[in-house]
Amino acid sequence: MNGNFAAVGDAPAATHYEHGVQVIDEDKQYNSNLGDYLVQSHVAAAGFNYHIISVFGSQSTGKSTLLNNLFGTDFSVMSESERRQTTKGIWMSKNKKEQAANGAVQLADNILVMDVEGTDGRERGEDQDFERKSALFALATSEVLIVNIWEHQVGLYQGANMGLLKTVFEVNLQLFLKDKQSNPRSLLFFVIRDHIGNTPLENLRNTLVQDLTKIWTSISKPQGLENSKIEDYFDFAFAALPHKILQPEKFVSEVDVLAKRFTAGHRSTPDQEFEGGVFLPEFHRRIPADGFSVYAEGIWDQIVNNKDLDLPTQQELLAQFRCDEIAREVLVAFDNEIIPLETQQQDAARAGTPTVLADLGTIGRASREKTTKAFESQASRYHKAVYKRKHLELEEKIDARLRPLYQGQLMAAHKKGVAAFTDAVTNAVKAGQKAGGQYEFTEIIEKQKAKTMDIFKKEAQSLAMEGVPWTNFKPQYLLFGKELDEVGARLRKEEMRRLATRVERWVRSRLGDAIGLEFNKIGSGRGGSGAPEDGEKPATEKDLWDRIWTVFVSIVTEAQDRFKDRAKNLEATEDEVEIGLWRLRRKSWVALREKIEEEVMEGNILLKLRENFEDKFRYDEAGVPRIWRPSDDIEGIYTRARESTLALIPLLSRFRLAETYGPPDLPAFVGSQPHGVEPSDEEDLTPIGGVDEEEGKSLEEEMTILSESKRQDLVIRFKKTADGVYVEAKRSALGGITQ
Ligand code: GDP
Ligand code: MG
Repeated sequence: MNGNFAAVGDAPAATHYEHGVQVIDEDKQYNSNLGDYLVQSHVAAAGFNYHIISVFGSQSTGKSTLLNNLFGTDFSVMSESERRQTTKGIWMSKNKKEQAANGAVQLADNILVMDVEGTDGRERGEDQDFERKSALFALATSEVLIVNIWEHQVGLYQGANMGLLKTVFEVNLQLFLKDKQSNPRSLLFFVIRDHIGNTPLENLRNTLVQDLTKIWTSISKPQGLENSKIEDYFDFAFAALPHKILQPEKFVSEVDVLAKRFTAGHRSTPDQEFEGGVFLPEFHRRIPADGFSVYAEGIWDQIVNNKDLDLPTQQELLAQFRCDEIAREVLVAFDNEIIPLETQQQDAARAGTPTVLADLGTIGRASREKTTKAFESQASRYHKAVYKRKHLELEEKIDARLRPLYQGQLMAAHKKGVAAFTDAVTNAVKAGQKAGGQYEFTEIIEKQKAKTMDIFKKEAQSLAMEGVPWTNFKPQYLLFGKELDEVGARLRKEEMRRLATRVERWVRSRLGDAIGLEFNKIGSGRGGSGAPEDGEKPATEKDLWDRIWTVFVSIVTEAQDRFKDRAKNLEATEDEVEIGLWRLRRKSWVALREKIEEEVMEGNILLKLRENFEDKFRYDEAGVPRIWRPSDDIEGIYTRARESTLALIPLLSRFRLAETYGPPDLPAFVGSQPHGVEPSDEEDLTPIGGVDEEEGKSLEEEMTILSESKRQDLVIRFKKTADGVYVEAKRSALGGITQ
């Protein structure tokens, strides 16, 4: 679509424009320096606040001279001696004279004057082609067409000027036929040169108006416009100037008076003649100054290639081209602000440390606004529909960048929030436990959730932009809340697990002490016959298992109470508590079993048996160490002590209660498996014989502490040990060695 337009900015740098800029050269080539010239002359930034004037007229009628005097321009003028055509093609220059009437009147801003090569056929031969093309170009761009004419040419209906005007009228009809909405008007400003003064301007004016009307009537009009009047398209203005060479001073002062008219004008009512200056808003072609060179080039391309010049289409093309260009420019600034944030976020994500960027919402909103505003301020002057479309496109481009950035931000906020929530809950629970368990887990969760959600909400809200639906992050907020609930539930479960582990550890430690103590009593050997210690009920070896069972049950009962108590803080359900207790009882039993296992390990139990035997053998009934004499019945004492200790082995081999002579009711103690036990709850549970029937191990087996072979082995080893003690005693008795 933009094929008509070359990119602006490819003009050579540092071009000098003392004579203005040649827009179209003598070979009808467009000169792309125009854009550069408009930038350098500060017109490009003027928006619509500029004016274009073109001058028409026969060759060497003092057009360039007039413009130079009126506007301080420096168009080439034919030297008086040579009389040869000087202006080639179309030149443009900015008005350099800011004031008129001796400084009393300020000329309009940014007047651009186009000096059009004169056409009277003298030098271009019969080339009417350029006349037509330049007229088209001037009408498509200019508000005011100055028609420069000698006084003596006025009324010469067949003169060269009349041909030119005819061309102008025809071209105008062709040009604006399609552009009915904007219905552009132009001002034909007749400047009558070498006015002698005999004929008043008023008369000259009447003559010219009559001639113009005649020309208008004579031209063939397109269908539907047969009855159109010249006034429908043109306004007229007239001025007369004295002979420049004969009355140089008067010429200068009259030019100054004429300059006054190049200011803003207005019309009180639509049909009225305009008042004030010549620049009426309705004359303006409404091409933004920064797009003028592109527009002019497109127009000229159509003209020079004899294409149908369709101004609305040209304006649309221009709008597309310029809007794209402006969008690219404003996006550069946007990039400068956004790329560092994108980089920071990507780096953080890559490093696995999602970062919540500070003030992202503020920066994003400001950048978006600044970028669209910058676009609007320049692009809104262009074709409305195109501008609106391009505005949308720009917003889409901006949002395509902001969106992933915002989503990344919320993802980081989400991750950070979950981590912060987990930490806060864990710490609060720890603190609660330290403070003696005075805490409510749900309360902690609710409080931390509200706090964390609030932070997330603030972040999400800071990203929200009014009228930008995708910045409504409520779904993400809700999702975050859901995740926190899940995390909370998981934390509670973990806390329950930890509680169970703690209680189990406590049981293990208590059992370690208590059971160790019971087994140590075996070592003391006088369990049955020795003096009771500290008034305790004398322990007998026979009720070893009763005592162990009793102490075990009391430890587990205490542990269960602790567990229930703590589970309350964690708001455990009844089912959860039941399962927890069930697990605790099982694990406690396993711990007891392990402790016993440790106690009856070969080395340990052998040592205890030896101590037990030695106590019986080496001490008398009163607990006094024996000093063996040869007369003592060493053998008898030895045999009794040995048999007494040996009798312990079968006792130790089975967990049996004295009263029932059977195992404790472990299945009843553990209880049946409660409802709701999940496979994961069972994973770490050791099967227990007699309790887990399907395990194929009976209660009898579960209660077997020493297997038959271990038992025999122990008997043999103990006997050897006892024999050693006996030999030693015998030897000491014979040797008289006191012990
Ligand atoms: P252009 O071809 O229409 O641009 O005319 P120029 O401005 O180059 O002027 C052509 C010649 O006319 C030059 O020799 C000027 O000195 C001369 N000239 C300029 N202004 C006037 C004027 O007001 N009256 C007359 N008679 N000659 C003029
Ligand atoms: Mg000239």
